[in-house]
Amino acid sequence: MEYAFFFVILHSIMEEREVYYADVLLPLHLPDTYTYRLPRDLVSAVRPGMRVAVQFGQRRIYSALVRRIHTDAPKFKAKYIMGLVDEEPLVTERQMEFWEWMARYYMCYPGDVMAMALPAGLKLASESMVMMHPDFDGDLTSLSKYELQIVTLLGEHPAMRVMDIGRAVGVQKIMPLLQGMMERSIVMLEEELHERFQPHKVQYINISPTLRTSDGLLDEAKVKELLDELERKRRTKQVEVMLQVLQLTAFGKEAVPKRKAPQSSSLQTLLKNGILSIEERYDTGLRDLEPLDARDIVLNDEQQAAYECISGRRPVASGQLADVVPLTTLLHGVTSSGKTEVYIKLIDEVVRSGRQALFLLPEIALTAQVINRLKRYFGDLVGVYHSRFSTSQRAEVWKRTALPSGEQGRLQVLLGARSALFLPFNDLALVVVDEEHDASYKEQERAPRYNARDAAVYLARMWGARCVLGSATPSIETYWNARSGRYGYAAMTRRYGGFSLPRVTCVDMREERRIGRLKGHFSQYLLQRIGDAIKEGRQVILFQNRRGFAMRLECHDCHAVPQCVNCDVSLVYHKATNSLRCHYCGYSIPVPSECPQCHSTRLQMVGIGTERIEEDLQIMFPDARVARMDLDSTMLRSQYADLLRDFAEHRVDILVGTQMVTKGLDFENVGVVGIISADNLINYPSFRSYERAFQQMTQVSGRAGRHAEGGEVVIQTYTPEHQVVRNVIDGDYLGLYHEQIEERRVFRYPPFYRLVEITLKHRDSQVLNEAADWMAAQLRGAFGKRVMGPEYPLVSRVRALYLKVITIRFERSEAIADAKSLMLRMADDLVKQDDWKRVSVHFDVDPY
Ligand code: ADP
Ligand code: ZN
Ligand code: ZN
Repeated sequence: MEYAFFFVILHSIMEEREVYYADVLLPLHLPDTYTYRLPRDLVSAVRPGMRVAVQFGQRRIYSALVRRIHTDAPKFKAKYIMGLVDEEPLVTERQMEFWEWMARYYMCYPGDVMAMALPAGLKLASESMVMMHPDFDGDLTSLSKYELQIVTLLGEHPAMRVMDIGRAVGVQKIMPLLQGMMERSIVMLEEELHERFQPHKVQYINISPTLRTSDGLLDEAKVKELLDELERKRRTKQVEVMLQVLQLTAFGKEAVPKRKAPQSSSLQTLLKNGILSIEERYDTGLRDLEPLDARDIVLNDEQQAAYECISGRRPVASGQLADVVPLTTLLHGVTSSGKTEVYIKLIDEVVRSGRQALFLLPEIALTAQVINRLKRYFGDLVGVYHSRFSTSQRAEVWKRTALPSGEQGRLQVLLGARSALFLPFNDLALVVVDEEHDASYKEQERAPRYNARDAAVYLARMWGARCVLGSATPSIETYWNARSGRYGYAAMTRRYGGFSLPRVTCVDMREERRIGRLKGHFSQYLLQRIGDAIKEGRQVILFQNRRGFAMRLECHDCHAVPQCVNCDVSLVYHKATNSLRCHYCGYSIPVPSECPQCHSTRLQMVGIGTERIEEDLQIMFPDARVARMDLDSTMLRSQYADLLRDFAEHRVDILVGTQMVTKGLDFENVGVVGIISADNLINYPSFRSYERAFQQMTQVSGRAGRHAEGGEVVIQTYTPEHQVVRNVIDGDYLGLYHEQIEERRVFRYPPFYRLVEITLKHRDSQVLNEAADWMAAQLRGAFGKRVMGPEYPLVSRVRALYLKVITIRFERSEAIADAKSLMLRMADDLVKQDDWKRVSVHFDVDPY
């Protein structure tokens, strides 16, 4: 007995003595985790997935994520962790495993993934610049002593480094303090200023408080008195407007958007005299929408079959691997077949069982309609996550996603573009990838260069969740996966409501030109169809791809085109600012009056920009209301929303636009869709160009005749016999697929081969060439004939850096995990050499 007691004491002394360490992940491009020593007072509080403040490098302090806690002393003397940022884990074990998978697959480090996955505000570092949040209401009473000090400081300095604030206020644990203030929108990071999402403000009109009783109700006696007085003064127009506003606002109960009120000078007078009042509200786009119940949706036969197939209730089609029902299903439904209704049914089931669904969209700004539809069905359970939202908005969605089942405020339907994949789900049961073929699912800018569709399939598999990839024009890879039994397959071949797909007409532009029937960039046929549609009160969408076709300035005498000084591209003309601008680096100059080469003053515009088309149309159809939708006209999200609303409410007759108009818009009244130049889409040098041309043309065609018969699509082309044009006209996806899959097989492209693209960059082309040749030789030594290049890409210089690309093709069946680590090591070796220190090397797995 005494011995036992002795051991208990001994054990507790030993435990006291035990030293704990934490391996932490930093949001930096580093191959490993780093080990820090845990101060005794933190041992019981720290858990994996929480953030801690650590010193890294000379003076910098970062918030790092705890990956593992252990007692294995490292060989070096570990630094202490400086403090704990979270009280609960911010990141789950499964998320970290997902990050690690992503790093392995896309050839970067978990720290790169962390840097991308966490919103800026959750990665606070000592060097981060903090400033006052513009939305802070100035209420100081809710602030603690330190918070008040910080607010005062930031009142004097526009932006300060975290470490300087800590020093000035004299608190050690500055990070958790600032974190709390960021979440309450008191302060924010300076870098967010640029990415901050500005919600759209709308003016609302209502009867002013002076005509109301103390409890806010309309004072009918006063209103009557006012109307009588206006009558007496013979202000009949004002009386009329007043009566209309009373009606619109349901007698002052509900404010109306100003644009819906009668637009007249009398309205202004009533406002000026304080009879009506105006208020600004953030437009969520939801106010006019009534909630809906998914149980009221009645699916048609094809939808029902698809629904059962996706949810695993229906045996897979013959020819597929019969014993395993694949988790992932391709939903191949023609435009307007009602895919969204199927998704809603699937989500409804998940929501009712208390679980979570992730809904990915290619570009969130372009899919406001889908978001609104989902919000009508699932209301407060929907969380929209966008990389352009502010930290407080994103942090809120993050936290509410992580809430346990049954808790107030938990989000169950998470909607977003790529980055929504990184949310901390705790019970994911369904993943929807809408428009799975869309190229914007691929991250192009920085590591990890992941494809969100493919990562979503992986994420779903981690959770054992159902996954549905929806498209009217599936990517070749996905269709191949479905045909070979890896994915399930459900088809919807008819439009919902029985409307037929639009008729597609092809105009031979060679012929038009030969007989002199071209008017600018328009064939007579297209002009005629536009004219007819407008006469019938229907709307028109015209699609012109920007790529390579933007307006450029060309010298009539020497044919020189002004080039960017930093990049290997022509400058693009922008009418609004009367300037020439580089679309790669933003470099811009005023339009020159003479040719920089030969000083000729005969400069001319070449190319068909959307601006030009818009102008031409205005001249040819002076009575039509023409609008343009492209990146320039929709810099602000609100402009985009306005344009969509104007078009939906038929204040615009003709909408001219770039890729933006091809995306899932559902308008009732589109009679004609015109594709100005199909050739431009087809003749792009990429193994995906035919596939993509087919997708874009079919998608934009799908905007016609969705809710009424007689939609027509007009394709203008100089090569009407081209296979892809024929495929679009016949709606022949299978034809396109068979051609393409054969090409891919013969020319060694995906899905038969996996491509890894290595891009090297440097200021000096000589240095770059040597480095690229060395790298290619190393790669050839290891992988032989699989290595192609190095070669200059299409645009061989960007932002003053030269580029070279090496491509490696691995057969699909090859296990390439080891090859990937070997390639990463080669890149590390390359930059270790003195001459090549500044060569940047990046990897792109499955490039687009
Ligand atoms: P897709 O996403 O396949 O292009 P949508 O989901 O936008 O097509 O559907 C086209 C139209 O048909 C929408 O207006 C949608 O509301 C309507 N619709 C589709 N399925 C149903 C259904 N089962 N009941 C009622 N309306 C439906
Ligand atoms: Zn010239
Ligand atoms: Zn440039």
